[in-house]
Amino acid sequence: MDMFRSRLPKPFDLPKRLMRLGELAYNLWWTWQPEAGRLFGRLDYDLWGRLGHNPIRLLREIGRARLNQAAKDKEYLAIYDRVFEQFDGYLAQANTWADTIHPELDDHPIAYFSMEFGLHETLPIYSGGLGVLAGDHLKESSDLGLPLMGIGFMYAQGYFSQRISEDGWQDALNNPLVFDDLPVLPVTGEDGQPLTIEVEFPDRTVSVRLWEIRVGRVPLYLMDSNVDANQPDDRLLTARLYWSDLDRRVMQEVLLGVGGVRVVRALGYNPSVWHMNEGHAAFLTLERARELVAAGHTFAEAVKKTRRQNVFTTHTPVPAGNDEFPLWLLDKYLAALWPELGLTREEFVNIALHQQPHGETFSMPVLALKLSDGRNAVSELHGEVSRKMWNFLWPESEAADVPITHITNGVHTANWMARRLQNLFAQYLGADWYDHLDDSDLWEKLDQIPDAALWAVRTHLKRKLAFYMRERVRERWTAGGYHPVQVVSSGVLINPYALTIGFARRFATYKRASLALSDVERLLDIINRPNMPVQIIFAGKAHPADEAGKQLIQNVYRTVKKAETGGRLVFLEDYDMDLARYLVQGVDVWMNTPRRPLEASGTSGMKAALNGALNFSVLDGWWRESYNGKNGWAIGEEKEYESDEAQDAADAENLYGTLENEIIPLFYVRDGKEIPAEWLSHVKDSLKTNIPQFSTRRMVKEYVERLYLPALK
Ligand SMILES: *Cc1c(COP(=O)(O)O)cnc(C)c1O
Repeated sequence: MDMFRSRLPKPFDLPKRLMRLGELAYNLWWTWQPEAGRLFGRLDYDLWGRLGHNPIRLLREIGRARLNQAAKDKEYLAIYDRVFEQFDGYLAQANTWADTIHPELDDHPIAYFSMEFGLHETLPIYSGGLGVLAGDHLKESSDLGLPLMGIGFMYAQGYFSQRISEDGWQDALNNPLVFDDLPVLPVTGEDGQPLTIEVEFPDRTVSVRLWEIRVGRVPLYLMDSNVDANQPDDRLLTARLYWSDLDRRVMQEVLLGVGGVRVVRALGYNPSVWHMNEGHAAFLTLERARELVAAGHTFAEAVKKTRRQNVFTTHTPVPAGNDEFPLWLLDKYLAALWPELGLTREEFVNIALHQQPHGETFSMPVLALKLSDGRNAVSELHGEVSRKMWNFLWPESEAADVPITHITNGVHTANWMARRLQNLFAQYLGADWYDHLDDSDLWEKLDQIPDAALWAVRTHLKRKLAFYMRERVRERWTAGGYHPVQVVSSGVLINPYALTIGFARRFATYKRASLALSDVERLLDIINRPNMPVQIIFAGKAHPADEAGKQLIQNVYRTVKKAETGGRLVFLEDYDMDLARYLVQGVDVWMNTPRRPLEASGTSGMKAALNGALNFSVLDGWWRESYNGKNGWAIGEEKEYESDEAQDAADAENLYGTLENEIIPLFYVRDGKEIPAEWLSHVKDSLKTNIPQFSTRRMVKEYVERLYLPALK
């Protein structure tokens, strides 16, 4: 099967010897190949940084003189040749995991639907963990050779960028994306015209065109309603992620589910697995049933025939993450669908009816759970929580028997691990370590890495983080309108040798970002101890409509700004995948304080762990499965509390105590060579236990073996 449905654009004006850089710029493979990324960076590190690591813009703007110079630079050409040898080998590889272990997947494509995909900072079509997980799923599927394609949206304005005012208030900037500058390629039909599909709403039809992103071997197809044929309002349907306005939201989800199935058909695929990454795509179950009803089956038969191939992953027990719509919205947008399914309105509504205290709703997760045979949560504890939460759909079952399994999340190792660390592993674990990264035995060899070598990489990464923060501040300061106190709050006073703790995530209230600030006096005492300074770096966005989340940011910012913090508390604006990479690679400790058991899984702590940071987190989600008493620290206990206040007080007390008595003293115990040997023994334990287990390598293999293969039967 031909993988890609788009054509590369007119080549860049490049010297012949470097011609293929253009091709590389259009395949995101380069984003998880440190050597490939350096091919662009080495042309002009400064420009590369200023353009936000955008190779297409770099190749356009760099100028012929520098390119001609590179085309004669032996060292550069050696890297170039090595990278393209790898690239060609990768694209043509015939003995991938899928090919050798599961040849039965051949000709059985998997369609993976997600509202967001986090692939790279130049493509702001993600808001947080859900999208980054989807992006990592695609990258790993490519590495494993799975016949998988992604389906989602190409948002014309992308997710917002965040500015923090002097008083800590979040401003949201919406930046129209210039598609021409991005690695998105128009998909054309056999006639050479742009391929479009249509979705009917009661009073009109919405047309959608398609863009393709090449993710290694895997294509990602993105829908875009900004076409001439549509009314002005409809052209905005795919302009932004997660419209808060319910009308737009329901239409978006109809486009994703119903439109997405039509996209797959228009491209000529007949998938054997339809994977819904969260409930936003659940209308796909109805569109697939409609296809069979149109061919003469009853709705019941159609559901019976399609459900085996549907796989649904639930990602959160938090209500805001579980979309549901009031019934009047269904009347407004879906009234044409129930007769096409051979159903009455009542029968239709009953498929996904959810009785809520505030009335009856149509629930997207209920729809997905009821019409799929494959169902999973994203950690062991989240599995338990989900089985209880959805028990009402299986009233005959005990909670333990509710048919929702769990596959714990993972992260794409090469995408998140610092290049220096990858090189260190290649040196001590073997050049092919990446091929065996989910093999625990391999990681036993880690003890052979000398402490000094590991510590040298760790300190290098922390210095890099410090420089990065400084350069970001310089840019903002130079642009004007930045108050000096904001400069100080943005990390310029960071000491690259002091214990540094990272806390970065969406500012949703259940994540309790201000837990560490609940007793400011005590915290100031902790961070300002002579000879044992501690620094905490905060970052994260709140959804623009989430006032409570924005207030949380403001609380944190107001504390960070205080002179008594000595610049040791930092808030970094505009958390995205770029900043995330520097943070998870550079900090010593990754802190996470969700209100148990609402975290579901969490993934940023995994990214930090695989770079040699130690986790310090509530025993929720993935960390509850990883924590072994040596590979990091727990915050609080695994128990239920009478009230949120009681839980917060107990967890805060525990957090401060562990910092004071365990983490800080351990970090500052040094041997004669200034190396914290005991600290590093914990780091090694963390690397050993976390890398093989919490990678998408393990995760995607589990999806294949436990949820995709059963769908083929
Ligand atoms: C990994 C990542 C997340 C998800 O982190 P959690 O720990 O799951 O909250 C969110 N945003 C960005 C930019 C990330 O890289």
